[in-house]
Amino acid sequence: MSTLPDDLRLLHRLIANCTLCPLHKSRTMAVPGHGDPEARVMFVGEAPGFHEDRQGLPFVGAAGHLLDELLQSIGLDRSEVFITNVIKCRPPGNRDPLPAEIEACAPYLDKQVELINPEIIVTLGRFSMARFLGPSASITRIHGQPRLADERIVLPLLHPAAALRQERFRAQLQEGFLVLKRLLSGELPPELRKEPPPGPPPQQLSLF
Ligand code: SF4
Repeated sequence: MSTLPDDLRLLHRLIANCTLCPLHKSRTMAVPGHGDPEARVMFVGEAPGFHEDRQGLPFVGAAGHLLDELLQSIGLDRSEVFITNVIKCRPPGNRDPLPAEIEACAPYLDKQVELINPEIIVTLGRFSMARFLGPSASITRIHGQPRLADERIVLPLLHPAAALRQERFRAQLQEGFLVLKRLLSGELPPELRKEPPPGPPPQQLSLF
């Protein structure tokens, strides 16, 4: 994993000291994100939980262990990807993030995407999916189906915490990670393939 470049380190320092929404009052630590600043894949979850809030790192609780397992199942380590959340501070009692909190925190995620510039964004859970694919996107309909959003591949997946609650979601998540593996190996579904730029018309062979 590369060390953080100055611009990303500065951004994470801003997040660590941010007071833009009321969540700063109840947090222990903000959780800007962690991983390879040159990663091809960025995972975006929902919000820090209890353990993340204590350690200042994303996905370090039970859902994080499952995420590690899923990464390993496709030959990846978390040091090779970048992991963050839609909002960077823990909502009290792990409640859902409020629209105003998501809006206040949005510029930080936007800037992370700009600086890291991943090929693929994997959204984990509905709040992250809505952030990239719009509020009408339905995880039950499009789970594991990559989309293009702002010229970037977005792969919507369930949040690993859902798979901890219901075993049947674990298999779905595993399938979603296999889709990620195929995307990383360059296998794109037809709807995501860009047409080759129009070239000159083929020259006719003239023998006379
Ligand atoms: S959740 Fe985001 S906007 Fe709110 S205090 Fe934390 S870093 Fe700032």
